[in-house]
Amino acid sequence: ITILGIESSCDDTSAAVIRDGVMLSNVIASQAVHEAFGGVVPELASRAHQQNIIPVVSEALKRAGIDKSELSALAFTRGPGLMGSLLVGTSFAKGFVTALDIPLIDVNHLQAHVMAHFIKESEDDHNQPSFPFICLLVSGGNSQIIRVNSYKDMEVIGQTIDDAAGEAFDKCAKVMDLGYPGGPVVDRLAKEGNPKAFTLNKPHIPGYNYSFSGLKTSFLYLLRDRIKEDPDFIEKNKQDLCASLQFTIVDILMDKLRKAVKDTGITEVAVAGGVSANSGVRNAFEDHARRYGWKIHLPKFSFTTDNAAMVAITGYYKYLDKDFCSIDEAPFSRVVL
Ligand code: ATP
Ligand code: FE
Repeated sequence: ITILGIESSCDDTSAAVIRDGVMLSNVIASQAVHEAFGGVVPELASRAHQQNIIPVVSEALKRAGIDKSELSALAFTRGPGLMGSLLVGTSFAKGFVTALDIPLIDVNHLQAHVMAHFIKESEDDHNQPSFPFICLLVSGGNSQIIRVNSYKDMEVIGQTIDDAAGEAFDKCAKVMDLGYPGGPVVDRLAKEGNPKAFTLNKPHIPGYNYSFSGLKTSFLYLLRDRIKEDPDFIEKNKQDLCASLQFTIVDILMDKLRKAVKDTGITEVAVAGGVSANSGVRNAFEDHARRYGWKIHLPKFSFTTDNAAMVAITGYYKYLDKDFCSIDEAPFSRVVL
């Protein structure tokens, strides 16, 4: 069974081919146009997707060494994401399956981030999590704790009531003028700083839910007050600021995750989404594995941020269930799992 996956939910155009669960190719075209604006500009994103989609798909087929006539089905990201971006992938997908007369499979982008753990890079890659497991999904738009019962049964047991973890990284990085997306820059600078240099607010939210807006405000006020005393405060303390910010975000994430693991008794724990690339998050997972006996799953770096391999693998499992969608299906911008 050979699946072509298409991802176009935000600012990365990606296509991937997966055969019987094994990845044959995964091509990602990132859009540099947004850097100058300090964030993704939706209209520019959809135009860039239009330019990229055909070359990216051709390249994915080429690298996989297959012809499009060999495809069993096409899986595409239906949402959530930016509507204009999703429309490009969705329209392409519909035209493509109509021409080839193969099934169309719609994929939920968040489910796909979790499913990234099931991408095999070779036949004898057997590191996949077993069900049920807990997955911390931390991306640019979402922070959720998910109880994953099966490929298609994912229960969101906690989620952010305001900003996502990735957003907290990016927004705080932006006020320090570190560029966009700021998460990876904070990660790099944090390695040279003292995580205890500054104390930032931690939220008190019931259950397994998260909140990051208070932290963001507390970070902003800290900068505002200290800049009054010293205009070069940020420049002089960049490393310590990043280390403290990262330490607090990771601490918030792990507090609730630990609670979820304790209450459910499920000690197999995975992390997914762009923020799972963060070294602080990864170290915390390894520390918890040692201290609490968790069996942890950290995704390969190339599968943390948006990619089509995760869409194709989700499509592969839906294909096995004959879970196809109609050609009339419209994309959606917002949804939970
Ligand atoms: P969603 O999947 O919720 O729609 P998205 O697709 O935009 O959102 P991803 O591509 O999964 O999100 O992740 C992007 C986010 O990950 C950005 O906020 C980015 O700053 C963050 N990120 C990437 N690498 C790191 C890192 N090393 N440390 C911290 N944050 C990081
Ligand atoms: Fe994403």
